Amino acid sequence: MSFSLEGKTCLVTGASRGIGKAIALALGAAGADVALTYARSEDAAKDVQAQLVAMGRKAMIFQADAVSGTRAEEVVNELVKAWGRLDILVNNAGITKDTLIMRMSEEQWDDVIETNLKSVFNYSKAVVRPMMKQRAGSVINIGSVVGVSGNAGQTNYSASKAGMIGFTKSLAKELATRNVRVNLVAPGYITTDMTDKLNEATLQAINSAIPMGKPGNPEDIAMAVQYLASDASAYVTGAVLHVDGGMAM
Ligand code: NAP
Repeated sequence: MSFSLEGKTCLVTGASRGIGKAIALALGAAGADVALTYARSEDAAKDVQAQLVAMGRKAMIFQADAVSGTRAEEVVNELVKAWGRLDILVNNAGITKDTLIMRMSEEQWDDVIETNLKSVFNYSKAVVRPMMKQRAGSVINIGSVVGVSGNAGQTNYSASKAGMIGFTKSLAKELATRNVRVNLVAPGYITTDMTDKLNEATLQAINSAIPMGKPGNPEDIAMAVQYLASDASAYVTGAVLHVDGGMAM
């Protein structure tokens, strides 16, 4: 099953790997042209680009640290100049630097807040003008279940993801009359490089906290994004969509 994004253009941050890559490919599969950013993984980003081109889509890649507002403006300007419009922004780039607060350095706090939360401000600000001019747009932020539930060892990460929820609702209110929708997808435990670092005992503990009893795949998140990007969700804004096997209950 697929929602149609025929003729739309989109930008996905941090899409060289994991959930971002699955989102970029799902948006392409639905008919959109896709631009993506990455921080370090140039070869992986080129591979995603090649897969999109093989589907018959236009695809651009940008090396862009999501922390930089200047770079966000450059990326969006270049994209709009090349493709004429930008319909969908997915703020996906994110990192973890987990530790208990007594051991957390100021740098670990700042890195996570800047990469996960300031980046959302950077890219959302950069797309607001073209989307308002078009009188159409969809901004989709990738939060996390821990932004709602909290998690020991993730004060920085949980705060960044909770901040994204407040940001999403506020921007949704600012842009609603312009037909620009802003929503958040809150994944639970999804198998990617980010979660590969966890040991067997932690994995078992997580699985037992998931009502559906198993982790999700990046594609589960990508399908929720495809829906929020499409006209099928034309009357949905300011929503937090949990895709987590029931974890947030
Ligand atoms: P991942 O496999 O570690 O991939 C992270 C992606 O973000 C990579 O493409 C990486 O690019 C990019 N990135 C990291 N720092 C960046 C920066 N400063 N500027 C630009 N791009 C940057 O992570 P993931 O599991 O797919 O997570 C994606 C999103 O989902 C994150 O926001 C994460 O918080 C959220 N999430 C994940 C889970 C989960 O269980 N996996 C659960 C809830 C929420 P490079 O390859 O160049 O480093």
